[in-house]
Amino acid sequence: MVNIFSKILNLSRKKSPWILHYDTGGCNGCDIEILATLTPMYDVERFGIVEKGNPRHSDILIVTGAVTIKSKSRLKKIYDQMPNPKAVIAVGSCGITKGIFKDAYNVCGPIDKIIPVDMYVPGCPPKPEAIIDGVIKTISIWEKKFKD
Ligand code: SF4
Repeated sequence: MVNIFSKILNLSRKKSPWILHYDTGGCNGCDIEILATLTPMYDVERFGIVEKGNPRHSDILIVTGAVTIKSKSRLKKIYDQMPNPKAVIAVGSCGITKGIFKDAYNVCGPIDKIIPVDMYVPGCPPKPEAIIDGVIKTISIWEKKFKD
């Protein structure tokens, strides 16, 4: 009974991955582009993707920013609260290399130093098309993490 339930649950999750977006400290340029992917012009929801505000309900975490010392523990907490299997996308040069904030006194990134990252979407900021491409590729990586 439990197996059938988990199979149905996994099938539903794969059909409609829910994403969570977290900014760890950047200029907000990447966040504006992520929001653009959710609006009718780019409409990422056509792939069954829905943005959620709760890590416990989210499958894929999209992270921007160079990770400030204050946001480090929050990023870890958000990641730990997400159900398995989960995937992480680092969006923008700041999240991937610390970018223009590399010498800032309050930065302790990049993101993959704090949590595991499955996909990198470079750019300052990346275009919505690149973000959508990164999300679609991440979904196939994430689907392979399911055991059934
Ligand atoms: S990568 Fe560029 S656009 Fe994105 S948060 Fe950093 S400085 Fe801003």
